[in-house]
Amino acid sequence: MYFNFLASAWALPNLRRSTTELAQTLSKKAIITFPSDDAWEALLTRGSYPRIDPDYSVVIQVGTEADVQKTLAFAKKYDIPFLAVSGAHGWTDILSRFPYGIQVNMRQLNTAAVDKGGKTATIGGGALQWEVVKALFAKGKQAVTGLAECVSVIGPLLGGGHSLLQGKYGYALDNLISARVVLSDGSVAEASSSKNPDLFWALKGAGHNFGIVTSYVVKAFDIKTDWTVYSLIYTEDKLEALFALINKHEDGSIKRPVELALTGVFVRIPGIDVTNPVIAYTVAYQGSEAAAAPYAARFQALGPTATTITSNVNYAQLYTVTGNNLDSAACIENHNLLGSGVTLPTWDAAGTRAGLAIFANATADPRFATSIVLLENYGMADVKTVPFESTALAPEERTHPILASPIFWWDGDNEQASKDAHAYAAAIKDALYKGVDKTKGKRHTYVNYAIGSEAREELYGHEKWRLAKLRALKKKWDGRNAFRFYAPIE
Ligand SMILES: Cc1cc2nc3c(=O)[nH]c(=O)nc-3n(C[C@H](O)[C@H](O)[C@H](O)COP(=O)(O)OP(=O)(O)OC[C@H]3O[C@@H](n4cnc5c(N)ncnc54)[C@H](O)[C@@H]3O)c2cc1C
Repeated sequence: MYFNFLASAWALPNLRRSTTELAQTLSKKAIITFPSDDAWEALLTRGSYPRIDPDYSVVIQVGTEADVQKTLAFAKKYDIPFLAVSGAHGWTDILSRFPYGIQVNMRQLNTAAVDKGGKTATIGGGALQWEVVKALFAKGKQAVTGLAECVSVIGPLLGGGHSLLQGKYGYALDNLISARVVLSDGSVAEASSSKNPDLFWALKGAGHNFGIVTSYVVKAFDIKTDWTVYSLIYTEDKLEALFALINKHEDGSIKRPVELALTGVFVRIPGIDVTNPVIAYTVAYQGSEAAAAPYAARFQALGPTATTITSNVNYAQLYTVTGNNLDSAACIENHNLLGSGVTLPTWDAAGTRAGLAIFANATADPRFATSIVLLENYGMADVKTVPFESTALAPEERTHPILASPIFWWDGDNEQASKDAHAYAAAIKDALYKGVDKTKGKRHTYVNYAIGSEAREELYGHEKWRLAKLRALKKKWDGRNAFRFYAPIE
């Protein structure tokens, strides 16, 4: 910290002067904002603020790829830290270690278009999910995008990219064809299976560590069918039966079609149960209600307290029906959010029950009453077809079907609340990992759900060669470790 203070004290007085020099070289679209400017506060808006609070000295809203290049070359020349921002929904604590420097705001690079031939789409490095879904949907197409409209497409993709479409098409990164990447010295590299294939490999799983992606090409798919969504509410006494049923969808006891995505949350709904949290569960099927019915029937047979069926839901509407649209609680901004991911091979009944008990205790505290625990089993069929060694993604991302995470929300800039939320989240995590710990298995956390305290191996894989390869590539492509504020390799 002392070092950072000294560095910042030296750099800041010069920053305004030297930024003026940079401004003259940027495009007309570029906008430079300093803390004393009226627009400043709005540019600090984040999915989780003030909990996540990178300490920027200046924001540069870039308008072109060349702006990104010039900004990064400038940052190198004066040794100024920088951080790209697209959706502003990253939640790892490490983002708050950003000591001073430049926010490279990517939001003006928000284009999305289906390419000639219709098999691919080219997307701008700062585009959000709703922008991409809308542009592609207008052409009858979809790409593998995540679950919240407000999040960028590139942020999730560079670490994996979990999606309701993953059972059918794999993770978002499995659909990446090529990317244009501005490196920390300001040069541009193209990355694909034929151009700089080592950088392409690293981008697919550890991408936040290598450069700023200004545009990229992904596979685009025809939209053939709408979705049917069953929203089911179970009281807590159904927990063991429900999670045993979910496990059967993953261990082969029940044949699972690629069109079926399963996900849910622990949540408090006092209108249904005043004392305990409930399990709000979603059975989403890409197909008609008649086609979905046999799969939903197994879940209905467990006796949910409430069932809502919404049919003829198109991919764009799916975000609203599942409560992940721009106006939803998931997308709320400038409200503390703390997530801490848990990736599991199977639901352990005792661990899940223990997790619910801790969650019940935590949400009995009015500060955290609206919090949830995510319980995602999106589907693994296509994810499993990709060889482990072909991307930087940890193998557990291809073998473990469960992505869970406590998500705590609370108001205000309250250190005690943050401390308590961290403690509750850690306890829920430990409970959910019980099954893994019992078998002396190794814990794995999805890079994009990491909180920042995980060991590198927990994020990037436990095989020795994998981290060694990533470190060697890091030396080659970002030798001065400029990209170090999100799930860092070093
Ligand atoms: C409400 C919500 C819903 C989510 N849903 C999903 C989901 O469905 N699937 C899933 O896999 N994950 C999901 N996540 C996790 C998500 O992948 C991460 O939070 C991700 O970091 C968000 O990216 P962002 O661009 O919105 O955030 P930002 O904070 O802007 O960026 C996150 C990181 O990516 C870097 N970055 C941003 N733009 C670029 C770029 N163009 N080139 C290189 N680096 C860049 C930033 O510097 C930062 O380090 C969700 C998170 C939230 C809060």
